[in-house]
Amino acid sequence: MRYIIATLGCKVNQYETQGMERLLQSHGHRAALPCEQADAVIVNTCAVTAESGRKSRQTIRRLHEEHPDAVLAVCGCYAQLEPDEAAEIGAAVIFGAADRAKTVEAVEKAVAEGAQRRDIDKPFERRVFEALPAGAVDGRTRAMLKVQDGCVNFCSYCIIPYTRGRLRSLPLDEARAETARLASEGYRELVLTGIEIASYGVDLPGRPGLADLIETVAEAAGEMRLRLGSLEPTVITEDFCRRSAATGKVCRHFHLSLQSGCDKTLKAMNRKYDCVRFLEAAELLRRDFPGCALTADLIVGFPGETENEHAETLAFLRRVGFADVHVFPYSRRPGTPADTMPGQCSRAVKTRRAQEAQQTVKELRRAFLQESVGLTLPVLFETEENGFWRGHSDTYALVCAQGDHLRGQLRQLRVEGLEGDLLKGSLV
Ligand code: SF4
Repeated sequence: MRYIIATLGCKVNQYETQGMERLLQSHGHRAALPCEQADAVIVNTCAVTAESGRKSRQTIRRLHEEHPDAVLAVCGCYAQLEPDEAAEIGAAVIFGAADRAKTVEAVEKAVAEGAQRRDIDKPFERRVFEALPAGAVDGRTRAMLKVQDGCVNFCSYCIIPYTRGRLRSLPLDEARAETARLASEGYRELVLTGIEIASYGVDLPGRPGLADLIETVAEAAGEMRLRLGSLEPTVITEDFCRRSAATGKVCRHFHLSLQSGCDKTLKAMNRKYDCVRFLEAAELLRRDFPGCALTADLIVGFPGETENEHAETLAFLRRVGFADVHVFPYSRRPGTPADTMPGQCSRAVKTRRAQEAQQTVKELRRAFLQESVGLTLPVLFETEENGFWRGHSDTYALVCAQGDHLRGQLRQLRVEGLEGDLLKGSLV
């Protein structure tokens, strides 16, 4: 069969889509060409904000209109929360944020026999980590490995615990085996991803932690370097930094979930750290990974956030010296405590604060990149355009250089200049 598969949302969704696609291809199916009608359309949806839900609906509708005869399958967090809406749009197969392998089976059955299937489980009853085949379907440079699922942090703005459910982790021996397989397939970078990887292992016998996972994976990684997905600052301890750095495999780039640089707002968000603890985490990382890039997610315009508190957050961004920050204006999510909090900010206030934060981030990004000029950085090259190869440094800066057949090569690059957000240099 010919399929189209679309993904919205986070890295974990991207990973799970890759897993489904690898399953589909191993069963002899192929992606529909742009000019072809598909037999099946699969939309892996997101619901992290009300806006993501809206975009998910829009994508489902659009693809259903473009491929009216295809079996429409919808899975992911939006489908988990709103299966009736998905059915109204015309989905014949509806799954939630689990059972990706069963989703593929159900799609095959629907195409072959016209069988409809709706299977929404209870997230807090999930106990088993669903292992899916890892690895990109196109190109063999960077692979993702999902090592963890679920979250029980219940941040007051977030719906994810209600869709992803309890904590489940990929056992260490399976992580080792999967890493060794990806290394032998020729990947050069492995991204460890999950919904909340700082909680890795709490459900496993002996409760291994994230540092144990990193050491295990590093041993099997061969030529691959390791990049860590988004981290809660609470996992950054002296022990974690020392052990991760000792592997010699971990990229000097850490994406930390900051969300606010104001203690009062962090408390209202039900985050489990304050600014002092965050600064301590940044310092520990910089000590063991000199020159590392710290990036973060930030929510502006959270209910009750005053102008002074917003200014406090901007000052905090400067104090940490982030290399980059993803700024999100707070988006109300029905079903979360923050949705009913007093002091909701107007759209205009949220937009202005987001612009102010983005301006600060632009200056910080520029300063970080400027500091890279003159340095020699390890770069993994990925794509080519007009004789110039692009890739990412270990610090996750976008880099460009001239050379022959550099795809998938990890090379040292002397940075000579900066053009916009692009570092330019020559191979050493
Ligand atoms: S840590 Fe907080 S923001 Fe992240 S998934 Fe869990 S509840 Fe949501």
